[in-house]
Amino acid sequence: MPRQPMPTGAMQEFIRKEAERILAACTKCGKCFEACPMTRYSPQLTGAKPESVVTGILELLRREQGTPEALAWTSACVRSGSCVPACPDDVNPKMMVRIARMVAAGGLGGAPRIPIRDDRDYFDRIRAFARLQLTEEELKDWM
Ligand code: SF4
Repeated sequence: MPRQPMPTGAMQEFIRKEAERILAACTKCGKCFEACPMTRYSPQLTGAKPESVVTGILELLRREQGTPEALAWTSACVRSGSCVPACPDDVNPKMMVRIARMVAAGGLGGAPRIPIRDDRDYFDRIRAFARLQLTEEELKDWM
């Protein structure tokens, strides 16, 4: 199975820090999953418990195996952003699922566990998000 291209340098560091932040902040309440408009279109997610899907997503952020439901959610995500305002703890679940998807696609090392779609602007979107998160100095180092 082809793997997603590996980010390098500062981008790797940015992703690592974001994963750490999310792991520390997320309470696994499942409200982000409940707000996702795509779950109804995935048979694997029908009847899934929001809290356990998020638990599987956090496993992926720890570079663990994840669960079939968590992998299904990473595949179903179309980055609608509906999850972001649903989170009571400002975790940014969109980024959480995004990183989980990168892990699941083998983009951060390890074997891919989901098929990846052709995603030509993958790094452009990560860069655009990073612009909002990194300091001027970090950006200079990165760009
Ligand atoms: S990301 Fe936010 S909404 Fe989703 S489970 Fe964690 S705390 Fe709850």
